[in-house]
Amino acid sequence: MEEIMALSYQSTRGGQKGLTASQAILQGLAADGGLFMPTEIPKLDLSLEELAPMSYQETAYQVMKLFLTDYTEEELRSCIQKAYDAKFDTEEIAPLVKAGGVYYLELFHGKTIAFKDMALSILPHLMTTAAKKNQVDQEIVILTATSGDTGKAAMAGFADVPGTRIIVFYPKNGVSPVQELQMRTQKGDNTAVVAIEGNFDDAQTGVKKLFGDEEFKARLAERGFQFSSANSINIGRLIPQIVYYVYAWAKLFENREIAAGEEINVAVPTGNFGNILAAYFAKKMGIPIGKLICASNDNKVLYDFFATGTYDKNREFILTKSPSMDILISSNLERLIYLSAGCDSQEDADLMAQLSSQGRYQVTPQMRKNMEDFWGGFADWEEDAGEIRRVFSDTGYLMDTHTAVASAVYRKYVKETGDSRKTVVASTASPYKFARSVMEAIAGNQDGKDEFALIDEMSALSATPVPEAVEEIRSAPIRHNRECSPDQMKEEVASILGIS
Ligand SMILES: *Cc1c(COP(=O)(O)O)cnc(C)c1O
Repeated sequence: MEEIMALSYQSTRGGQKGLTASQAILQGLAADGGLFMPTEIPKLDLSLEELAPMSYQETAYQVMKLFLTDYTEEELRSCIQKAYDAKFDTEEIAPLVKAGGVYYLELFHGKTIAFKDMALSILPHLMTTAAKKNQVDQEIVILTATSGDTGKAAMAGFADVPGTRIIVFYPKNGVSPVQELQMRTQKGDNTAVVAIEGNFDDAQTGVKKLFGDEEFKARLAERGFQFSSANSINIGRLIPQIVYYVYAWAKLFENREIAAGEEINVAVPTGNFGNILAAYFAKKMGIPIGKLICASNDNKVLYDFFATGTYDKNREFILTKSPSMDILISSNLERLIYLSAGCDSQEDADLMAQLSSQGRYQVTPQMRKNMEDFWGGFADWEEDAGEIRRVFSDTGYLMDTHTAVASAVYRKYVKETGDSRKTVVASTASPYKFARSVMEAIAGNQDGKDEFALIDEMSALSATPVPEAVEEIRSAPIRHNRECSPDQMKEEVASILGIS
C-alpha cells in the first residue's frame, strides 16, 4: 500500500526538503538558491457547478487551502478577507471583459493598478501569520527587485505592517514615470526604495546574492533581522495567482460563455514567468486549459526557448514600452524546468549552474515534450501599438502595453494554428500606468507633453475615470531618493537597516 504523505515543500535544487507552507513562505528562496515547490500539485476537489457561483474570496479559500496545508481555516480565511476587500475597486476583484471575441481577465483593480496586487495584497498577511505560527521574533526584511510593478504593490502591502521592513530595488531608467512616482512617494516608516544603475536582471541577481550571503545573514540575525522575498520566487506569490484562473473559468461557465468540460486557452504577457506558471498550476489542478500562450516583448528569450529548447540570456537587454516584461532571467521558469525533468532536482541544479556560469542551457528532448502545453510568441512595439489601436478603434476597449503584447501574440497564434478555443488574455495593468506609450499607440507622437496631461487626455478619449492610484501621486511629495550601483546593494541594505 502506498503511504499517503502530507503535502510539503522542497527546493527545486534538492538542498532543502520537508518544509511546511508557512516555512517556505517565510524563507522565500531556498538556501541552495532553488525555488520552493510543493511535493505535489493537488487536484481541485469541487465541481464546476459548485465553483461557478462562488465569490472571489471563496474561490481563493478553496484553491489556497489545498496548498497552504499548515494554515488553519480561520487563519487562511482571515488573510483572504483582509486582502480582497474594498482596496479593490470592484467586488468581482478580477472581472472578465469580452472585447473583440477575447476575454480580458482584468487583474489591475487593486491598489497599484497592476496584476501584482492580486498576490501582494495577501502575501503580507500570509507572511505575518507564518511568522506567528513559527514563533519568529525577528523583524522580517523583505528584499525585492522590481521591474516596476512588484515594488509598489509589495510596499502597499507591507507599509506599516508591524514586524516587517521592506526594501525595493528598481532599474533607474527602466520603469514608467507613473511606476517611478508610485514608488518614490510611498509612505510608511518601514519602506525604502533604491534606484539601481542597471537593469532588472542586475537588481534581481543582486537580491538573490544577498539571500545567499551567509556572513551577511548572520550579521543581520545578530541584530534581530531575517530576510524574506516578495518576488515571485516566493511560493506565497504563486499560489494566490492560481486563484484567478480558476475563477475566470468558473465565471465563463456561469455566464454561459463555455460549456462544462470545454477547454479554454490562456495568453499571458510574460516576464519572470510567474503569472503563466500559475495558469499551468491551475491546469495541473484540473482546470481544462488547453494551450498556455507565453507572450514576450523584444526581450524574447522565452520565445526562443520554447522554439529551440535552449535558454540563452547572452543577448542585448532591450528597454521596451512594456517595461515590466523587460527581463532576461525568468526566475520562475526554474519551476517548470524542475517539473519537466520529472522533479529531478539534480538535473535542475545542473541546468541552473550552467545558466549561472555560461548564461545558457539546453533541455533534453523529453523535457521539451513535457512542456508542449506552452506556445511561445513575441510582439515588437509596432505590433503592440497596432493591437492597442485596433482593439480600441474596433471595440472602444483600451488596454495597456503589456496586455497588448499578449493580445497581439494571441492573434498570431490563431493565425498560425487555427485553434478556435475560447481564450482568456491576462490583462496585467491599467493603461493609465503607461499613459504615454498607450497614447502614442492610439494618437501618434506625444513628445513634449506632460505625463499628467496625457493621463487626462486618455481619460477624455476613453471615457473612463482616472484611477485613484494615479490621482494619489499627482501631487504627493517624493520621499525616496536613494541610488546605488548593483555592487553596492549590500552596503545600501546595511545602511537602511542601520547596521553598517
Ligand atoms: C510583472 C508584470 C508582468 C509579467 O509577469 P510575470 O509574472 O513576471 O511573468 C506583465 N505585465 C505587467 C503589467 C507586470 O507588472
